[in-house]
Amino acid sequence: MTPKDVVAFAAENKCQMVDYKFLDFVGIWQHFSTPISEFSEEIFEEGVGFDGSSIRGWQPIHNSDMLIMPDALTAKVDPFVQVPTLSLICNIIDPITREGYTRDPRFVAKKAEAYLKSTGIADTAYFGPEPEFFIFDDVRYASSANESFYSVDSSEGIWNTGREEFPNLGYKPRHKEGYFPCAPTDSLIDLRNEMVQVLQSVGMRIEASHHEVATGGQCEIDMRFDSLVSMGDTLQWFKYIIKNVAIRNGKTVTFMPKPLYGDNGSGMHCHQSLWKDGQNLFAGDGYGGLSKMAMYYIGGIMKHAKALCAFTNPSTNSYKRLVPGFEAPVNLAYSNRNRSASLRIPVTNNPKSKRVEYRTPDPSCNGYLAFSAMLMAGLDGIENKIDPGEPLDKDIYGLSPEELKDIPNVAGTLQEALEALREDHAFLLKGDVFTEDLIEKWIEYKTEAEVNPVRMRPVPLEFALYFDC
Ligand code: GLU
Ligand code: MG
Ligand code: MG
Repeated sequence: MTPKDVVAFAAENKCQMVDYKFLDFVGIWQHFSTPISEFSEEIFEEGVGFDGSSIRGWQPIHNSDMLIMPDALTAKVDPFVQVPTLSLICNIIDPITREGYTRDPRFVAKKAEAYLKSTGIADTAYFGPEPEFFIFDDVRYASSANESFYSVDSSEGIWNTGREEFPNLGYKPRHKEGYFPCAPTDSLIDLRNEMVQVLQSVGMRIEASHHEVATGGQCEIDMRFDSLVSMGDTLQWFKYIIKNVAIRNGKTVTFMPKPLYGDNGSGMHCHQSLWKDGQNLFAGDGYGGLSKMAMYYIGGIMKHAKALCAFTNPSTNSYKRLVPGFEAPVNLAYSNRNRSASLRIPVTNNPKSKRVEYRTPDPSCNGYLAFSAMLMAGLDGIENKIDPGEPLDKDIYGLSPEELKDIPNVAGTLQEALEALREDHAFLLKGDVFTEDLIEKWIEYKTEAEVNPVRMRPVPLEFALYFDC
């Protein structure tokens, strides 16, 4: 769509408001609206001003004027706002230099795509994320709060739904068996179907929808893969729609990676492949039907995995998911079909579908930054011919400490991931995709706003462990 098309599109849909959306530094969609009377084709040239100091990790207050620049290609009608509303995703522009703002995640993603083209290696990187999420009762509608989130229960294998149930309602999925008995055990099919329909109504292609393994209402809805920036945009629409459909049904959704102790967490496995002139460069005749290039891409991801965790698993909660026994990968290994390895090569006979699935990421990440960082690591692997070593076709969770000793791990804490990023980020700076300023600010923000406040707070289990000491 051109700016002119967008104006016509708004008129056709009788839009009375325009909503400008952008992804903040941390990964939460922000927005503001104007009446349609303030909207014209010129907005796509001139932008709209806003206060950048209110956004976490962005401009200081004395230097706070910023511009948003809407992207005409992202025009949609917002399915949730009552007044017909045109929705546009925006880039962030420095009003003085008129250049992209280096801490705008979407700008990073655009630069990553430009860098990929400049290398001549490929013209397109495709990403297919699989965000898992939990659906809970919305405490605003339920009679009691989710008390068991805060209670201490040291028993393993409890049927933990995240809330007190009086009486037991029956047909509850057995522990770790949410994937995937039919209704009435799966009580969320109608809600997921409604989500799918709204996702489709904004032009998204949905491939599948199912309950996930965890008992407490864990679900997955799979989107069709897309190129990097577009997939970053789509991921935000996805989260927005999933959360808003839940809310209007008296439910609430969380994408936090590990809301419930003792049950599976939510990952966001990322399928990825590189293409040139319409050809999938990852298809070949090597291990798992992969090309040499795909192997080097895997090598790059494995080499930089700990630093990557700072973007792919950027919350303190991320590391409560990355423990053995819950289908979340802890060890850095690649394998055909193996879900205990961090890199899986899905089985397919179609060369067009050949791809690598990196299973470590989770949905607390900022999609633009996580996709860009993974691409940069993979490209570093290709540029430097990084050998990923031998595959590991075994259940890694079943290996003895002796067998595990030479297999590297992903980061164990957010602090470890941030330290790894401080040491290892030259691969991200190529083509100015990430900047030193962004990396420094990311480490500072994550340490001061998240790692330290979480570290300094006593948690309920500590009372059970130490109260009587
Ligand atoms: N929920 C698992 C994870 O944390 C993944 C389950 C699956 O294989 O889809 O990554
Ligand atoms: Mg899944
Ligand atoms: Mg998967």
